[in-house]
Amino acid sequence: MVTAVTQSPHLRIVVVGGGGREHAIADTLVREGHSVTVTPGNPGIAQICGTSSLDATQLEADLFVIGPEAPLVDGLADRLRQQGKSVFGPGRDGAMLEGSKDFMKEIAASAKVPTANYRTFDNLELAISYLRGTDGPYVIKTDGLAAGKGVLVTSDLDEAILDVTQKLSGTSFGDAGRKVIIEECLVGNEISLMVVCDGKSALALPCACDHKRLSDGDLGPNTGGMGAYSPVAWFDEGMTQRAMDEIVHPTLAKLTSMGIDYRGLLYAGLIITQEGPKLIEFNVRFGDPEAQVILPQLEGQLGLLLLSAAKGDLDSAIVPNKKNGVVVVMAAPGYPESPKVNGEIIGLGEAAKLDGVRIFHSGTKLTDQGAIVVGGGRVIGVCGFDEDLRGAISKAYRAVDRISFDGAQFRRDIAAREE
Ligand code: AMP
Repeated sequence: MVTAVTQSPHLRIVVVGGGGREHAIADTLVREGHSVTVTPGNPGIAQICGTSSLDATQLEADLFVIGPEAPLVDGLADRLRQQGKSVFGPGRDGAMLEGSKDFMKEIAASAKVPTANYRTFDNLELAISYLRGTDGPYVIKTDGLAAGKGVLVTSDLDEAILDVTQKLSGTSFGDAGRKVIIEECLVGNEISLMVVCDGKSALALPCACDHKRLSDGDLGPNTGGMGAYSPVAWFDEGMTQRAMDEIVHPTLAKLTSMGIDYRGLLYAGLIITQEGPKLIEFNVRFGDPEAQVILPQLEGQLGLLLLSAAKGDLDSAIVPNKKNGVVVVMAAPGYPESPKVNGEIIGLGEAAKLDGVRIFHSGTKLTDQGAIVVGGGRVIGVCGFDEDLRGAISKAYRAVDRISFDGAQFRRDIAAREE
């Protein structure tokens, strides 16, 4: 029982970040009646709650929620906890699950978590001779953070060699690529499983599928994510339980045995192979865009859930609403290689008024004249919610069709594979 929490339902909450994920977190918390401040926020967030340019350590609140991975890996949660604050987000030690793929693979191996076989390299000659000695497809990953773009999957040996050369030399991803993981290519459907952890126990949220490739039919380069939907009919409760038993719980037990008190979100990216679920990656925060379709399902309970986890006393009585959510990401022209910014975005207000629609800002800017323009690679997430998946898809696309900016890129087939 989380008595302290249930006695004070109105919370002052600081959310750290300024993307679509933080917009979705703030939107859900504001709808629950909490007082929310987002640092630094973005123009969409500024329309629904307070924003601040101060560092989170200079703010006061009942709960701090850290959205993106970079401040987590940088130890922001540790600095806040040293000030006695309640924080949803792991310390630097736990955040290394995402900050270093090599560390993540070592944890997975020692916890006997099923994952792709791999080798780690910081030497170009050794990496190339390893590639030459193995059959494709090749999977090459930066060790460090690369905004979801540090992975190449290819059957072309020359392309693989060029990729390791650019990664290890620091040309493509700076220091994040100076160590690479080359791993076995797994085959199967992918699923995102997000779990709220309090250092001892864990609660699985409804799962989601995202669409990583830029173009329809899963073609084009990998991106931070072009769309997602939740829940996923084929990934039922039994499968979720199996993934929790084989992947999440052994990992958390291993972290505990290392003295790591993991309070925050653990995101397991899984491939469901013929032998069962295998781990592709861990993230240490809500997935984006997946958060945009999952968090609204927790409306009424999110603030208390996150506070209970932050206090080490997880409220596992949470039951998400079973609505279907679909998010279509609209991205800038030139994304992901070289996004072109500053195009004016038309139709946001009109689209937001549609029934069952929510729009979250990822990369937007407000001009001095009050216009909202493209400010980054992924620009907005357009979400549709409905009792059934087909309804959610059509609500999302009806809203997308009201929004325009020069060269907008988006997929027309988000969630279509489920129909
Ligand atoms: P990650 O950033 O590690 O999630 O990888 C991005 C994408 O690359 C994943 O969503 C998969 O589609 C693909 N991928 C990563 N690792 C593997 C693997 N071992 N086998 C096949 N595909 C993979």
